Amino acid sequence: MGASRPQAPLALGAPIAPKAPVFLQRCVPILLVLALIAAACTAERPTLAGDTSVPVASSTAPVDPVGVDGDRAEGAGNGFAQTTVAPADTAPPETLAGRAPQSTIEPAALPAADLPPVNQDGTVKALRTPTGVVVQVLQKLDDGYLVQTPCAIEATVSSGEELFGAHVVLDAGHGGVEPGAVGPAGTKESHVNLAIAERTQALLEEAGVVVISTRTADYRISIQARTGIANAVNPQAFVSIHHNAEPDGPFNGPGAETYYQIADDESKRLAALIYEEAVQAFSAYDIAWAGDTDAGVKFRPGSSGGDYYGILRRSNGVPATLTELAFLSNPPEEELLASQAFQQVEAEALAKAILRYLTTDDPGSGFVEPYPRTAPAGSGGGVSNCEDPAFE
Ligand SMILES: [Zn+2]
Repeated sequence: MGASRPQAPLALGAPIAPKAPVFLQRCVPILLVLALIAAACTAERPTLAGDTSVPVASSTAPVDPVGVDGDRAEGAGNGFAQTTVAPADTAPPETLAGRAPQSTIEPAALPAADLPPVNQDGTVKALRTPTGVVVQVLQKLDDGYLVQTPCAIEATVSSGEELFGAHVVLDAGHGGVEPGAVGPAGTKESHVNLAIAERTQALLEEAGVVVISTRTADYRISIQARTGIANAVNPQAFVSIHHNAEPDGPFNGPGAETYYQIADDESKRLAALIYEEAVQAFSAYDIAWAGDTDAGVKFRPGSSGGDYYGILRRSNGVPATLTELAFLSNPPEEELLASQAFQQVEAEALAKAILRYLTTDDPGSGFVEPYPRTAPAGSGGGVSNCEDPAFE
């Protein structure tokens, strides 16, 4: 992307070098040997291409008829042939099925940005409970708080860290028994979304941005609870992080997609800046990308004319975007998404875009005219059989 970037480039700390010829020459033979050993030692590693037996979201998860969750279709393989090309920084063992991304946050150096004030009126909007779960506060009580739980029921919590506002609310899609998309090698979208959200939060906080995350561990959380937190906190930006499945086919470059709220120009700018930064960062990787023919910055109307996706529709009034920056169902992209190095690259792209959104009037780029979509969103996000995590 050739967009102007008025502020100095961010000096981000992770030593990531997608194109490193010397490193390639010296280390690729060693990595290949390690990969062969790993493959030989891992009897249950699924085949990468053409695997159609990947489970979809838990059978106990209700299918939401109004498309409250993010993805069009999740969990299925894509069905077209791919050649896996692992970039030099992607160690093959990291792609093993079921491996949860580590939460190690690498230190980063971000300049303190000249940020707008946080929206707040002095009343507590959310609570970080002693177990780290973030809940919307419905009412402060004499001896605690009445809250809306992740399963969208009312409960009382006696203590926690009071949260009054934030510049940004980050939303890691899916969680718990709702993994979202599952890659051919078994990588769960819920894990990738959370790892990237955590890294994005750490990077933004380094720059002085106040961030609240809707989901802070691997538990289920309804769309109502996610948007309840966002609406209560009323941030400048609400970013729901997802990863995609079912591309139209091979794509010439990153097939990133961001959805914006139809009636909100700031949502549109937020989505376009994230798209711009993501494509610029991802283009360093020479892999067999996948995409939809209308990849880019777009919207999806519901049958009544508003936003189709519940995360965008229910947060109307708060500038929000739903990001689907890579295809977990595409083996080379799954390999990237399972690596901590690439998780950091995506987090840096998100953080840089959000900082630009907060501190400039840059319009972003990548707008496309979406083709009409009829396939329903993936299941999940509802409250049937939902079990809340422990709060204290
Ligand atoms: Zn998703």
